[in-house]
Amino acid sequence: MQVRFHGAAGEVTGSCHEVEANGHRLLLDCGMIQGSDEDERRNWDPFPFDPQEIDAVVLSHAHIDHSGRLPLLVKRGYRGPIWTQWATADLLKVMLEDAASLAEMDAERDNKYRRDGKTNHKPLFNHGDVARVLDQVRAIDYDQPKKILGGVTVTLRDAGHILGSASVEVVADEPTGRRTLAFSGDIGPHGTPILRDPVPVPAADLVLLESTYGGREHRERGATLDEIKDVLDHAWADQGNVIIPAFAVGRSQELLYWFARQWDEWDMSRWKIFLDSPMAMRVVDVYGRHETLFDEDAQEVWNGRPHPFKLPNLHLTPEVSQSQEINNIRGGAIIIAGSGMCNGGRVRHHLRQNLGRKQAHVMFVGYQAKGTLGRRLVDGAESVRMWGEEIRVNAVRHTVGGLSAHAGQSGLVDWYGQIAGRPPVVLVHGEDDAREALATALDRKLGATVSLARPEMTVEV
Ligand SMILES: [Zn+2]
Repeated sequence: MQVRFHGAAGEVTGSCHEVEANGHRLLLDCGMIQGSDEDERRNWDPFPFDPQEIDAVVLSHAHIDHSGRLPLLVKRGYRGPIWTQWATADLLKVMLEDAASLAEMDAERDNKYRRDGKTNHKPLFNHGDVARVLDQVRAIDYDQPKKILGGVTVTLRDAGHILGSASVEVVADEPTGRRTLAFSGDIGPHGTPILRDPVPVPAADLVLLESTYGGREHRERGATLDEIKDVLDHAWADQGNVIIPAFAVGRSQELLYWFARQWDEWDMSRWKIFLDSPMAMRVVDVYGRHETLFDEDAQEVWNGRPHPFKLPNLHLTPEVSQSQEINNIRGGAIIIAGSGMCNGGRVRHHLRQNLGRKQAHVMFVGYQAKGTLGRRLVDGAESVRMWGEEIRVNAVRHTVGGLSAHAGQSGLVDWYGQIAGRPPVVLVHGEDDAREALATALDRKLGATVSLARPEMTVEV
């Protein structure tokens, strides 16, 4: 068995690894590169393999940096199955349809405004390509080995990262013997709300391990909740709004979960809460169909009052006009909107309205990739450019790191440490400083042999 790294090899986004197993070729993930415009242009590049020669795809979870180039893969000739967990299959529909709409809008805008003589910009992919992807999806359960190709079996383990997220175990019975590859996918932290804790792969000959937060530890959950309470109290005292840029999948629902759970303690009834994300609303429906995947605490919260998705002061604003009406509110509103890194979506409108206000608060609750507006704001930019306008940032910024959907360094080390035999590790899905820190920790604590994936590098399993 062999692995070749095509994406998330020296960066966080664009997860894509090609595995040769018992003479077959499969892809683990086919994700989109996200970040600056320059980074995102690489999504148009040809794949470094022929899509028609891939026999199967296994998708770890629905996040676009893991799934976003699947429509392109299909558009360029891939006709095989896409294996993934049931809830991921449901979320994938929401994610990819949204991505297709964005791609179509981008192309339309380019055709309208570009003055370079080229007016026939085509979207990266369209809704038809997405429909094909969804046709090719084959959903499976956690912990049930599935033979997907001759002599190749995959098992998905709950990764506790987002609903339906999985670590992937690939077992190949090759002429020279049995080889096992463990791909972590994205690993969630212990005690993440709603979801169960990550389930490790029992044994492997090689491990591909994510390293997003390989150089950091998250704050304790309790301290994080105190921090959120402080931000809310501070904003209430300032009579400002709280803007929360949040991923539509996972983070938006978790925030509502915490609001329900801490209802009295955080005095939540005083606020107007807006979930201003049509996509997050669709994801709320998906959660409703997969309550069996919830952990015990979540099942309790779901049976109690108020229900996280039916808070008495929660306003869902699917229509653009409803979203625009929020602009008239100068204080007392909590606005949850996407995109999570502020590089698109309705949150940009709310930032434009609120960034200049001293009494406004912006609370970052997720990862901000290099090159994004969110990252510039987190890094303390005094002003930012939006729609050709320079906006001075007077709003108070807060980074609440402890809500991350990714395990911190010790969580990653623990996940790896439970795999029998301490197999060699290749670190993927992280910037270099994070990977180097994690490599040092894995070596020091567990004596692991660690290497860092580079684009187009090949390793033997
Ligand atoms: Zn993810």
